[in-house]
Amino acid sequence: MKTVLTIAGSDPSGGAGLQSDLRTFAAFGTRGLSAVTAVTAQNSSAVKSVMAVPGRLLREQIETLLEEFTIDAAKTGMIGSLENLSVIKRLMKAGRLRNLVVDTVLRSTGGKPLLDKAGAKELASLLPYAVVATPNLIEAAALTGIKITGIKGMEKAAKALFSMGAANVLVKGGHLKGEPADLLYDGKEVTLFKGSRIKGPKAAFHGTGCVLSAAIAACLAKGFSVKKSVKEAKRFLEEEFKSRVRA
Ligand code: PLP
Repeated sequence: MKTVLTIAGSDPSGGAGLQSDLRTFAAFGTRGLSAVTAVTAQNSSAVKSVMAVPGRLLREQIETLLEEFTIDAAKTGMIGSLENLSVIKRLMKAGRLRNLVVDTVLRSTGGKPLLDKAGAKELASLLPYAVVATPNLIEAAALTGIKITGIKGMEKAAKALFSMGAANVLVKGGHLKGEPADLLYDGKEVTLFKGSRIKGPKAAFHGTGCVLSAAIAACLAKGFSVKKSVKEAKRFLEEEFKSRVRA
C-alpha cells in the first residue's frame, strides 16, 4: 500500500486540515500519516484560535515517521509559522520527502491567518520543492502580485508561480464568478479543468482546498501523472461535496 504524509493543521471539526486529509488518503486506498503543524479551535463556520507547534516538534514528528515508513508523497496545508516552514524546507533540501504537493494556505475563508506574517512573506520559498502547488485566486495574487479577475489572469499567475520554482501549478478558480474552472500549467501546456458549481450551505465547502491537495498527493503516490492526479482529485472532490450537501 502506498503511503502519503500530510503536514498540516488540526481541524477538530474534521472538514479541513489533517483530519480531512487522512480520510481522503484512505478513500484513495493509500495509508495516511500526519505531522501536526498547528492546533486550532474551529468548527465548520469559524476558526477561533490558532497555535503553531514548535518547529523542533514538527521536525521530530516527520523524522520519527521516516524511521519506519517509506513515504511515497506528501502535502503541506496550514504551516502555521516561519519556523515550521523552515523545517519543511530543510527536510526537502535534504531529499527526505518526495512528490510534495504544496497547498499555499495563508488564511481561512473567514480571514483568520493560518500562517504567521513572517511565514507568509517566505511562503514562496517553498515553491521550488513543489511537484504541484495549488493556490486559490487570493493566494495566487498574494504570491505573485498579479490581479486576477479571469482565466487570463489565472494563466499569467500560474506562469509566474512556475517561474518561481513550482514544477506544476494548479490555480483554483473557485472564487471566480460564474462556472468555476481550475487552470494547470506544467511549464509547457495550459490545461483548463471546467467544473459546475455545486450549491449548498457554506459549511459544506469548508476545507475544499485541503481535500483537493490531499487527493492529488494520494494519486501521485499511486504513480499517476500530475494531469491524471488533478483530474482524479477533482472528480473525487465533486463527489465528496455532493455527499456533504446531501448529508
Ligand atoms: N483549518 C485548517 C487546519 C486548514 O488547513 C484550513 C485550510 O487549509 C482551514 C482551516 C481553512 O478552511 P476553509 O478554507 O474552509 O476556511
